[in-house]
Amino acid sequence: MEKITSLAKRRGFVFQSSEIYGGQNGAWDYGPLGIELKNRIAAAWWKEMTQLHDDIVGLDAAILMHPRTWEASGHVENFTDPLVDCKKCNARFRADQIPEENLSAKKCPECGGELTDTRKFNLMFKTHIGPAEDTASIIYLRPETAQGIYVNYKNIIQSNRMKIPFGIAQIGKAFRNEIVTKNFIFRTCEFEQMEMQYFVKGGTDEEWFNEWRKRRWAYYEKLGVKMDHLRWHQHGPDELAHYAKDAYDIEYLFPMGWRELEGVHNRTDYDLRRHTEYSGKDMQYIDQDNNSERYIPYIIETSAGLTRNVLMVLCDAYDEELVASEKKDGAESSADDWRTVLRFHPSLAPVTVAVLPLMKKDGLAELAQDIRRELKEDFATDYDQAGAIGRRYRRQDEAGTPFCVTVDYQSKEDGTVTLRFRDSMEQIRIPKAELAARLRQEIKTYKRIK
Ligand code: ATP
Repeated sequence: MEKITSLAKRRGFVFQSSEIYGGQNGAWDYGPLGIELKNRIAAAWWKEMTQLHDDIVGLDAAILMHPRTWEASGHVENFTDPLVDCKKCNARFRADQIPEENLSAKKCPECGGELTDTRKFNLMFKTHIGPAEDTASIIYLRPETAQGIYVNYKNIIQSNRMKIPFGIAQIGKAFRNEIVTKNFIFRTCEFEQMEMQYFVKGGTDEEWFNEWRKRRWAYYEKLGVKMDHLRWHQHGPDELAHYAKDAYDIEYLFPMGWRELEGVHNRTDYDLRRHTEYSGKDMQYIDQDNNSERYIPYIIETSAGLTRNVLMVLCDAYDEELVASEKKDGAESSADDWRTVLRFHPSLAPVTVAVLPLMKKDGLAELAQDIRRELKEDFATDYDQAGAIGRRYRRQDEAGTPFCVTVDYQSKEDGTVTLRFRDSMEQIRIPKAELAARLRQEIKTYKRIK
């Protein structure tokens, strides 16, 4: 994880928030490569959930919601973690994350000092809206995006004539006052979620739950994630959230071990029933095709962390490899060395293609710039003319750029360029006029080789 954190900083993926002031716990900033990666992961999810599903539509609800929302959802009462402190070293732990023997003996796992009793700690960030800081002005930063979907479900049925079963997808920020934030961007206080809520008739919920488990698994396979690094974990009775009838996590083998990446939950009709109760509004669905039968739908939720997916994609892509020197016709070469390479799926890579002139002089730089200009409309490009070509390839490997185009003297004569592949380091010569089509084809048919 240290290697990934330092690469992320060095190459501008992720920086500590407010670093010049010593950093802000639980918050991170996404740099130029990081925001591109995050946007592409979000776009891949959005495409999968909306474009590829005729029965799912999108939504972008506000972060600030009426405070009654969180009473209805059960978060005010139940969204708590068990907290213990060490009286000696003041370390703070989530009681469910330390060994049972420490908890029962009230012994600090770090210094052996005495632990306090376990107390409940609500994870919602609470603030005030408006100028008066009284109880009437309390407002919460949403701890999950889901509730914005539930309170809009009738609006969407009416405006978009949706019929059950159907889904609503949303990507957005969520905030949790986490007791322990560690492991880089894995668990943070400010993060982003990609959630889809699928509304079904009670009785069909288990079938849809299984169906969504299958679909979410297939999604990661399609993204080219190492499938032996993924597994299912079913929540036991003591793990189930207050709203859930059944829940499975997709776990990923992060450097610190197996951890949750995404949850698939059967939330039953809990949320819509509670909103009916708290808002006084009728949240029943009226089935026009079935004699106007009325019922409160069940909800199957797929809830993935976007920022946690960024970490997963970084970990999954990270590789170090001993490679022979790479020469490029007559240019200087280096001895055999190690390369660090991020094997991103090309559709997720922050830069798709880098254009590199072999030399700056003799019009090669201008020709390379022309080629970049042509590719720019369709691909995320980079341009680099500084240093030995082998070193420039390494820089692109480290940023996860799947393709490099090298422009040399022959390019001036016959209009061909070298296309170099990140994973195999293979180089082929092709006419520059064929570049765009070839790249498109390579992205579409990409298969990870390592
Ligand atoms: P945990 O038990 O680990 O605190 P959770 O089970 O409460 O997490 P969910 O409420 O199911 O998590 O959240 C859905 C998804 O949102 C998670 O799978 C994860 O990817 C993401 N997520 C939740 N909390 C955080 C956080 N603090 N930082 C980053 N991502 C988070």
